[in-house]
Amino acid sequence: MSKLYLVATPIGNLEDITIRAIKILKEVDFIAAEDTRHTRKLLTHFEIHKPLIHYDENNKNIVGEKIIERIKKGENCACVSDAGIPAISDPGADLVKLAIEEKIKVVPIPGANAALSALICSGLDTSKFIFVGFLPKTQKKCRETLEKLKTYEETLIFYESPHHLKLTLKNLFEILGNRETVMARELTKIHEEFQRGNLETLIKNFKEIEPRGEFVIVVAGTNEIDENIETSSDNLIDTYKKFIEDGIDKKTAMRETAKKFNISRREIYNLILKESEI
Ligand code: SAM
Repeated sequence: MSKLYLVATPIGNLEDITIRAIKILKEVDFIAAEDTRHTRKLLTHFEIHKPLIHYDENNKNIVGEKIIERIKKGENCACVSDAGIPAISDPGADLVKLAIEEKIKVVPIPGANAALSALICSGLDTSKFIFVGFLPKTQKKCRETLEKLKTYEETLIFYESPHHLKLTLKNLFEILGNRETVMARELTKIHEEFQRGNLETLIKNFKEIEPRGEFVIVVAGTNEIDENIETSSDNLIDTYKKFIEDGIDKKTAMRETAKKFNISRREIYNLILKESEI
């Protein structure tokens, strides 16, 4: 049965292509690419010679149907985007929907991805996060989206182009507040760089210089206290004990309890000490 493969390609460093990606690209009958000239260069580098078909946001309805027809007739197709994982802020998602409707098997060939690469190096909470991708282009919609995200505790991940970066940082600061933020620039490339700080400092850093290259913005989730949480000492101790039961060490348990109730670690420490003396 013929298949649609979603093949990840490097986001900068060509060595990030996987052995399996090369194998699949060599085996399929044709490759659907967002930018055929860009993909041709990548394929030439890996000595892959396969017919390419241009599939992007603008032609996806017409070309999508054609691709599906070819797969139904027995051809295998690999879908690639310009960089990273197809269907993540890239064309591909609609092709996947069409394929599923037609009961075509969809196979992931995982690899490099800018959002996750930025997140894992951010030092921010990786246990729960929200991938936002590109914010809406109009100022009104952009701010509405940020208003909705404001109360989320999860780490937020944004994609942004260099020419919108300054305005996006300003919007983030004005709506989310002065949060801890990491900007991952030119991941896996020669000028890879992580700028860490709060939004205010990052905005100041860009006052004099124009942003260049590709960016992922990783912003800490809200740590504002949940007003529904009762801050009685019993509640604090119970939360601390729950962390310990879950196998978390004392120091981290204290820090997390303090964070949850928006009080100092010293206060938690004193409470625990008092309890152990009873
Ligand atoms: N599908 C891709 C992926 O899996 O990461 C994302 C493609 S999206 C059209 C392009 C955006 O991803 C850029 O504007 C930037 O925000 C981010 N990006 C892609 N490559 C990057 C890199 N090497 N360093 C930092 N950000 C990158």
